[in-house]
Order: sequence, then C-alpha cells, then structure tokens
Amino acid sequence: MEFDHILIRYGEMALKGKNRKKFYSKLQDNLRNTLAEFPGIKVKRTQGRMFVLLQGHDPNPVMKKCKEVFGIQSLSLAIKVPNDEQQIKDAALYALTNSENTKTFKISVKRIDKSFPIGSQEFNREVGAHLLINSSDYTVDVHHPDLDLKIEIRTEATYLTSEVIKGAGGFPVGTSGKSLLLLSGGIDSPVAGYLAMKRGVAIEAIHFHSPPFTSERAKQKVFDIASELTNYGASINLHIVPFTKLQQLIFQEIPDRYSMTVMRRMMLRISEAICKKESILSMTTGESLGQVASQTMESMNAINEVTNYPVIRPLITMDKLDIIDISKKINTYDISIRPYEDCCTIFVPKAPKTKPQREKVSYFESSLSYEEILQDAVDGTEVIKFTKDKRNKEDEKFQDLF
Ligand code: ATP
Ligand code: MG
Repeated sequence: MEFDHILIRYGEMALKGKNRKKFYSKLQDNLRNTLAEFPGIKVKRTQGRMFVLLQGHDPNPVMKKCKEVFGIQSLSLAIKVPNDEQQIKDAALYALTNSENTKTFKISVKRIDKSFPIGSQEFNREVGAHLLINSSDYTVDVHHPDLDLKIEIRTEATYLTSEVIKGAGGFPVGTSGKSLLLLSGGIDSPVAGYLAMKRGVAIEAIHFHSPPFTSERAKQKVFDIASELTNYGASINLHIVPFTKLQQLIFQEIPDRYSMTVMRRMMLRISEAICKKESILSMTTGESLGQVASQTMESMNAINEVTNYPVIRPLITMDKLDIIDISKKINTYDISIRPYEDCCTIFVPKAPKTKPQREKVSYFESSLSYEEILQDAVDGTEVIKFTKDKRNKEDEKFQDLF
C-alpha cells in the first residue's frame, strides 16, 4: 500500500454547462503536458474528481510540477482502496504510521456512496478505534491534529488524503482565448504574460528587434524568457519583428520628444496586424502606471488610439517591488536583468514627452510615409515555436549564433 494518487481539486467556479466541460478537459490536457517528463503517469477524471496516478514515481517532484498548473485550487496525496471496511481501516493505519512528525490525528469520514453499509459518524469512530488499538504512540486531537486524515467513500472507490497543499489557482491556460504578449527583455512583460496565463489566457509573443543596434544576446534573453514561460502554457509562438528601418525612420523624422510615443504606436499597429493574421483577439503588455515616462495616462491614451483591439495590462496598478517578487518566483528575473540593450533603450530620447497629445502625434505621423516599411516589418516577421520538449534544442540552436 502507498500514496500512489494525487487528488486534484478545482474550486467551485461559476462555470456552467459547456464551459465547465472545456475547463476540465483543458486542465487534464495541461496536466498531461506538464507531467510528460514522467513516463507512464496518468491523469484521470472520475465523477467530479481528477487524479494523477503516480505509477511508481516519487510523489514529490510530481507534486511540485502540479503546483504550477493553473486551474488547480489544491492538491493532496491520496491512497485508493476498494470500498471495503477492513481495507479502509488498514489504509488509515498505514497513512498514520507513515506520516512524519505525527503524534496526534483526526479522522473525517465522508460517505458519498450510500450503499456503503456504515454511516459516516459510526465509521469515523470505528476507524479511530482501529488506529488507537493498533498503534501505541498516537492520540486523537480534533482541533489541531498533526495528521488530518480524510476518508472519502465514493461509488468507484475510497480515497484517503492527508495534507491539503495550495495549488496555483486561476483557470487552465487555453480556457480564456488567446492574447499577443508584447515581450521585451525587461522585467515586466514576462510577469504580465504569466498573470494573463493565470486567468486562462493562452499566449503568443511578439518581440521588436533592431539589429545591429540590439545584439543577438538581447534576442537570446527573449528566447530564454519565452522558454521559461512555457512552464505555464504548453507552447508559445514567438514573433520576431525586424524593427530597425521603422525605428530609424522615426528617429530621423519625428521630434525627439514624440519619438517614443510614435514608436509605441508602431508597435501596436504591427501587433494588431499579427493578431489579425493569427486570429488573436487581444494584446497584452507589461505597462504599469507611472513607472516610466511612456506609461502615463496621457501616454497610454495617445498610444492606444491606433488600435481598437483590447490591450490587457495586468500590471497596470502594481508596484515595481511586487512585480519583481513575481518575476523571481517564475524564474524570469535573472534573465531579465542581464544587461543587454533592447530597441527602446537604444533609441530612447533624453526627455520624452510625459504628456503627449493625440492631435500632435497624429500631426507628426501625417508627414511620415511609414506604411510600406511597416508592411515590410510585418511580412519579414519570423516565427519561432517554443515548446517544453523543444526547449533544449532551441537553446542549443541559438548557442551556435554566438
Ligand atoms: P518591460 O520590463 O516589460 O520591458 P518596461 O518597464 O521596460 O517594461 P517600457 O519599455 O515602457 O516598459 O515598455 C512597456 C511595454 O511595451 C513592455 O512591458 C512590453 O510589453 C512592450 N515592449 C517594450 N519594448 C518591447 C520590445 N522590444 N518588443 C516587444 N514589446 C516591447
Ligand atoms: Mg523594457
């Protein structure tokens, strides 16, 4: 006998009918993907419950992986036994005597299968007595037990679970549509992508690259970040936009104070074109109100004018320190702080306008013939697919570039 199952709980969400079905099957798919590195492991659904069948694998690394999957409220290791009085008692004794640092325990029986002959209360007492009789070092504590053993008698089997471990919460990635994440090499945009994924959004990413002003190493940062983000969604397509010509044009033709605003508008225009091409319905950015000159209310108003696609800004009200905390947790921080320049830092004016006006930006843009160059950028966009399995291969491939 052993803890050979993981019970997956997905809090009661206000989901109805079809949505609920989609939620369950996405969660099952995502779990299978995440656990692909453990051969033979199974993810099963039975009547309102989901289980990972460990098939001989050490539970700890598997639990660790499961804790990163969005849509899971909590998880517990579980023993599965037939609905047989004696076998349930034996399993309870096994769970107690194999529980570390345990002196006190509590039993909670829940009889869902009413054909089981003994009522919850009565069986509770019987199992408790069995444990006390067959072991010597333990006492019952119903308020603060070291081991809180739950016994759920269901139609198909009985499950015994102990510790309840918190899951990542949110919704399974892929249940809330898809968004195009504007991914720089900085700290913020990967966190924005992570938070969008937490709400169930699948991500494609877009990066504006300006060689030779930005190096291959700057691009590598973005590859590494995209790879890291595949830990939360199965795969990520990264669109690399050749942005040099457009940036040079802006740099030459637009007054310094407005070049940043125009550049951001170009980014959104190109992003919208890619969205249309890929049937993606929104964009996501790492903007946070007041963080830098380009992230004022006026600036967002002026930038946003060029698209009527929703622009999701998960970090908009967050403090930098809280954003940094998340970036450390998701392992993108160390990549983001590598000191390579991105296209914005290269062309950034000394004193960008903090309160740009729509009318003025439009006026400056009206004398700029950018349409063809913009279209070339869209057409010249290269797509790289990052998946968990491909991750190492991609890394090796790009090592060759240096
Ligand atoms: P980040 O830390 O994400 O780079 P930031 O604080 O540096 O953000 P900005 O440089 O103003 O802020 O960029 C705001 C947002 O614009 C970024 O979060 C990102 O979504 C997008 N962005 C900026 N530069 C690029 C780029 N080269 N490619 C793709 N998106 C970009
Ligand atoms: Mg940046």
